[in-house]
Amino acid sequence: MASPPGKKLVRSGSGLRMVAQSTALTSPFTLEEPRWIADKDCDHCMQCKVKFDFLKRKHHCRRCGHCLCESCCSLRLPLPRMSFVDPVRQCKPCSARSRFEEDFYGSQLASLQRGASLQVSGDVLDVPQTMTCKLSNNQRFLYLDGASHLEVEIVRIETVEMEMEAFEPGSDQQHLAGIMLKHGILGQPASHQLCLRVPPYSDERQRALTWLSAMQQAVLFTCEAQSAEDD
Ligand SMILES: [Zn+2]
Ligand SMILES: [Zn+2]
Repeated sequence: MASPPGKKLVRSGSGLRMVAQSTALTSPFTLEEPRWIADKDCDHCMQCKVKFDFLKRKHHCRRCGHCLCESCCSLRLPLPRMSFVDPVRQCKPCSARSRFEEDFYGSQLASLQRGASLQVSGDVLDVPQTMTCKLSNNQRFLYLDGASHLEVEIVRIETVEMEMEAFEPGSDQQHLAGIMLKHGILGQPASHQLCLRVPPYSDERQRALTWLSAMQQAVLFTCEAQSAEDD
């Protein structure tokens, strides 16, 4: 199999993975492969507690590394966050999480990389600007282009807050109007704030809304990947 530019194929105990050539280029959404619970430490399935023997064989979930019986770990699903090329064996709770992520890898990621036109304000801009906001191909940067050019490193986003807005004045029903990002810049001690809002009169409103909710998901994935690393 040929590797795309900047990528290489590696084989781990769990399967074949397509990873970045250098860790400096790894996607911020990537989860580390878990350490497998050793066979010798496991007499029973860690989920249903059935005792292992010659017929009840041990399997490992590629996402959590638990030692499980066939019926608790029979599903094979894509696991793009661990860079597996093919679907891999997963337990039921893990496969539910991987299914939830399918939507991100199936459509939201493409929408982030296609970009959307948003109204941007923040402490680094003198006046609000309409900018094209895009996730870089390696998923590590948010590029904002208008009269100015801004770059936000995804791993330096500290918080993301949704800005909601009433459908009409006085209405209880709300819809997403924007997101507020607090982020750091390499070499600068203070955090910065950026507000990305759906422009009030835009033909591309839906595209902007789709982009914003995908961005929120991307930040959640990044936080999850970072806290897994800290464990
Ligand atoms: Zn079991
Ligand atoms: Zn699992």
